[in-house]
Amino acid sequence: MEVIHFPDDARPARWAQPILALGNFDGVHRGHRKILERVRRVAGERGATSVVMTFDPHPPRVVRPDKAPPLLMTIDQKLEAIVGRPPDMTTELAGCSFAARCKYAQPKCLVEEPRLLGIPGHQWRCHFPVGSPEGDHARQVNAAAGVTASGLQLREDLV
Ligand code: SF4
Repeated sequence: MEVIHFPDDARPARWAQPILALGNFDGVHRGHRKILERVRRVAGERGATSVVMTFDPHPPRVVRPDKAPPLLMTIDQKLEAIVGRPPDMTTELAGCSFAARCKYAQPKCLVEEPRLLGIPGHQWRCHFPVGSPEGDHARQVNAAAGVTASGLQLREDLV
């Protein structure tokens, strides 16, 4: 994947007829992946270049910082997910969409999509939520192994 920063970098000349997916793509969830897959497919059919344009910082942080939602990913995490190291955007994933890059991921996360849970005002989909006993246990198991159930290698300073 080639990354350019707008408006500082010039558009590479070989980006003929770019077909653009424009969005924040925070979390790179299934809906995002369907859009990215479609852009890539159409670009392939037309001999064009598929391009993703995203934002850093997130626009609400600029125009209404007091109401900007918290983000799931840093720009580096987002780019890593968009490039397709996993998820493979041509394959429908089983399990949790975040399993490939989640440091809490357990075998269950690879095969079973988490149900929507929650209390009024706060909802989540996660088998091992951050701050829960299950989440703490999952993090400890993965930290001890140095790798998650999806094969994500854990750096010592990030576990
Ligand atoms: S721990 Fe939660 S967020 Fe992480 S992979 Fe499992 S279900 Fe998904």
